[in-house]
Amino acid sequence: MPVPVKISFLGGLGEIGRNCAAVEVDGRIMLIDCGLMFPDSDTAGVDLVLPDFTYLRENADRVEGVVATHGHEDHIGALSYLLEEIPLKIIGSPLTIGLAKNRIEERGVSDRASFIEVSDNDRIQVGPFDMEFFPVTHSVPHGFATAFHTPQGTVLHSGDFKLDMTPVDARLTDLAGLGHLAKDDGVRLFLCDSTNAEEAGFSASETSIGQSIQDLFRARDGRRIIIACFASHIHRVQQIADAAIATGRTVATLGRSMNNNVALARQMGLLKIPDAKLRDIDDVADIEDGKLCVISTGSQGEPLSALARMATGDSRWLSIREGDCVILSSHPIPGNEFSVTRVIDGLVRRGAEVVHSGSAKVHATGHAKAEELRVMHSIVQPEWFIPVHGEYRHMAAHARLATQMGVAADRVKICSDGDSVLLTDKGLERADEIPAEYIYIAGSVGALDHSVLLERRVLGQDGFVSAIVALSIVGPKAELIREPEVLSRGWVDGPEGDELRKDATHEVRKAIEEALADGKRNRQDFERAARRSLGRFINKRTRMRPMVVPVILGAHEGQDD
Ligand SMILES: [Zn+2]
Ligand SMILES: [Zn+2]
Repeated sequence: MPVPVKISFLGGLGEIGRNCAAVEVDGRIMLIDCGLMFPDSDTAGVDLVLPDFTYLRENADRVEGVVATHGHEDHIGALSYLLEEIPLKIIGSPLTIGLAKNRIEERGVSDRASFIEVSDNDRIQVGPFDMEFFPVTHSVPHGFATAFHTPQGTVLHSGDFKLDMTPVDARLTDLAGLGHLAKDDGVRLFLCDSTNAEEAGFSASETSIGQSIQDLFRARDGRRIIIACFASHIHRVQQIADAAIATGRTVATLGRSMNNNVALARQMGLLKIPDAKLRDIDDVADIEDGKLCVISTGSQGEPLSALARMATGDSRWLSIREGDCVILSSHPIPGNEFSVTRVIDGLVRRGAEVVHSGSAKVHATGHAKAEELRVMHSIVQPEWFIPVHGEYRHMAAHARLATQMGVAADRVKICSDGDSVLLTDKGLERADEIPAEYIYIAGSVGALDHSVLLERRVLGQDGFVSAIVALSIVGPKAELIREPEVLSRGWVDGPEGDELRKDATHEVRKAIEEALADGKRNRQDFERAARRSLGRFINKRTRMRPMVVPVILGAHEGQDD
């Protein structure tokens, strides 16, 4: 009887980001992607969110490597963090590997990675994994759908994809290849991108954006143009550069990732900008406004990006002035809307005209909409289906779509981060859950505990109140040596605050005196008394819940009971 195949989801199910799944064959583990997620405004001070690597850590000797389906941060951005713990073989297209290497080198863990470059339609064997790579179109070139030929039949993972019939590089999604796979072997289990499952119709082709950008450029003759897009969107950069050159402009790139990726893609022959038309951003002073096009990072409003600095007037390279046109060739990722709005506002305040996806056709999604998903399902016709890559609502919509397309309802499984499934001769069944917490990274301290975030949330909402209580305990004699002191930050201010703090002081004094009369002598007892009395008082008088921090001086250390 063939061995079962296990698939576990470490991230990416129920959120857009930190995509990571583990496929297990013969006791070995192959990951599909290892991405990060950018935090939302709820997670104060967090730089990024990683998948939970606990399961991989516990099974480190069984981890073979990672299939990097394409070069987006939500698929490759956590590789360098996993490499710190586990050496990995990283399998992907040369561009995907090139983009991943940039990050891995930055964190100084290159010596722990080995790379296996694969080309379109290659079929390779790594350990027990027999894998085949099908070209798909997406918003970064050279993405793959991956077929795992396993003892339990073919498991197909779509990667991030759309069905762009006129892609910039003419490299189409290999529907014929996928059709062969489905007809010859049959697809036992299909895992498919759900991002746009709720969107009706077909997505617009990337090439349709090129014309629209060129029209915008022509209509702004004589004016300086700054245009922001994702640095990995090489085809967008190509079309912007083409539009710029066609309208008599020279291109300069701005932002570290834009500079790196443009250099990488030109070197690989994937991006064609003649040397004579490309300038260093330090060297554009002599170019007239109407002859310049700056391609910048920061299309998601990232606070430290080149564009955000222009919006606040802090850019070393460019100051925005009346007459400039800034184009955001992008759409905000959920969670980034506020940052993008703030950047647009700053740019307009400085005199720029801002064009964005809400006002002109300057962006096309990289993810299949419902009709494209229907085409995909009609070709793949899987026996079992799990929607992946989406918030819950996207996965639920995709599950409905799959049943409409003929997958039996009991063979569609919506999974969450931490779920495992087992593919056996009998079918697909749920297996043990694995840890799948959000791992928060801030600054250089590494992973942040969840409790720190809860504390930050409390501090951010209602502030902080502290009571300082000084005691003298000598033998049987115990007393307050001075009136307790109540301090606050971010709670209530002004004369009203003074009044409240004064009343709070009485409450704390009363509680401490009661505790003393009760014979309490341990610090923990006084802390509890102060925290309770203060908390009750604050809630009664202000209906707020600030963080309450008692500081007790002079009491004995004791066991907390
Ligand atoms: Zn993605
Ligand atoms: Zn992607």
